[in-house]
Amino acid sequence: MTQFNIGDTVYQASAGQEGIWVACPECLGSGRLRVIMGDDSEVSIACVCCDRGYEGSQGRIATYQFRASVTQHTVSGIEAQQRDSGVRVRYSFGCYSNEAENVFATREEAMARAAVIVTEHEAEETKRLKHKMKDSRKWSWNVHYYRAEIRRAEETIKCMKERLAVAPKNIKDLDKLKA
Ligand SMILES: [Zn+2]
Repeated sequence: MTQFNIGDTVYQASAGQEGIWVACPECLGSGRLRVIMGDDSEVSIACVCCDRGYEGSQGRIATYQFRASVTQHTVSGIEAQQRDSGVRVRYSFGCYSNEAENVFATREEAMARAAVIVTEHEAEETKRLKHKMKDSRKWSWNVHYYRAEIRRAEETIKCMKERLAVAPKNIKDLDKLKA
């Protein structure tokens, strides 16, 4: 049933990953977005795509670089489980274990599989970044919000100034009403 036995030397395929920074695809590293409004006026806001909370928008985003990795192990355990899709086998090597689909008899086979795993990881990461970019479309909402807040504040200022500059009542008009 299993391809390998305890004590066999095998090669495990995996993808190593390293955190890297790349230029933000939305602001191209500038950390800000310039928005041209309907009346052709221009505003600029901090880029939402590369916003990192209190650090602000640095113009770069964190991602991963994956590389194919093959390591040699000695099989120390075999675990087989009946599933609907068939028998699922895991090999353990000391404190590690891996699915049978990632364990091979030769380094070359493992390397070919590792390259496939890297491609899979890269596709997932691309999907995650695209999702993040889609999320960042809320910048248009931010522009709307900031402008609405400014208008509200300006109205408050105008209103408060009026309260501090009350004109005296027109005495003549009052006299006319009495007459
Ligand atoms: Zn950005």
